[in-house]
Amino acid sequence: MQTRTTRGILERLAQGVVIGAEGYVFELERRGYIQAGPYVPEVVLDFPEAVKELHREYLRAGSEVMVALTYYTHREKLKAVGREHDLERLNRQAVRLANEVAREGDALVAGNICNTWAYDPDQVKATAPVVRAQYEEQLTWAVEEGIDMVIAETNDYLGEALIGLQVIKELKLPAMVTLATVQPTQTRDGYDYVEACQRLADQGADIVGLNCDRGPSTMLPLIEKVRKAVSCFVAAQPVPYRTTEHAPTFEALHFQGQGSFPLGLEPFLLTRFELADFARQAQGLGVNYLGLCCGGAPHYIRAMAEALGRTVPASRYSPAMERHPMLGTQVEEKDQPFLNHWVP
Ligand SMILES: [Zn+2]
Repeated sequence: MQTRTTRGILERLAQGVVIGAEGYVFELERRGYIQAGPYVPEVVLDFPEAVKELHREYLRAGSEVMVALTYYTHREKLKAVGREHDLERLNRQAVRLANEVAREGDALVAGNICNTWAYDPDQVKATAPVVRAQYEEQLTWAVEEGIDMVIAETNDYLGEALIGLQVIKELKLPAMVTLATVQPTQTRDGYDYVEACQRLADQGADIVGLNCDRGPSTMLPLIEKVRKAVSCFVAAQPVPYRTTEHAPTFEALHFQGQGSFPLGLEPFLLTRFELADFARQAQGLGVNYLGLCCGGAPHYIRAMAEALGRTVPASRYSPAMERHPMLGTQVEEKDQPFLNHWVP
């Protein structure tokens, strides 16, 4: 394992909010490097520079954690796209790319495991070992390449999340475990989300919380309850979409009579200002780790970092609207009549 010189995640969290950033798969799909549907990040091997570039954009936007792009790179998923033979190479390379960019700043590297679709709560004896074996091989490679922590995310089942947590703890690494919240109140194996977070905390997770599915407005009330229920650190990584009481998750959003998930979500994208508000509100609730999941993009992360009072590398190019020729402070006289069309 490579030696790292940066402050660890727990030390950083003890000092204040840590900003992370995810949504790599969604963003690289939009950029033309990942196929929607299977959502397997073959890009790690096929276009490594594209992965590094996105890491770098998040780093410049204020993310302190480079999350290795190993979401959906477990054995079952690679088998599904006929690249099982690339399993180890892909997992190792993803961690290497994250490390290379982390060193360009002062960022940590997180190994990443996720929902496998192999777990079945009615067949725990048969399926739990299958899940465990996939996490073990992924994280063993990740540890060899050098990671500072592990994020186990988008967990639909508490049972599967607990397997991930166990494997992380056996490797003696800080564990962040977050749940997906597609259903209204419970995990797929029937645990209230808040109770599930409590159980993960009781079993030694350092950070628990929620990621994906919900936009800020429908995640914040739930994360507030989680915050009150646990004494460990809490993470919130919503999607940047306008979810509502009637459509609390992005899977439930509809536009012009059609389901919008996952390819037609643009009408529901939040503005950077709304994400800045989210960062302030979450900090106010005592959330410790903030980021975005699917739909996230660098300009949102910068807005969140700046909302918390930070100046990040990309702040060099933060808006300076006072210098805009029509919306700025000095509109030339010849342009005055034109202004009516800009500010009706
Ligand atoms: Zn997501």
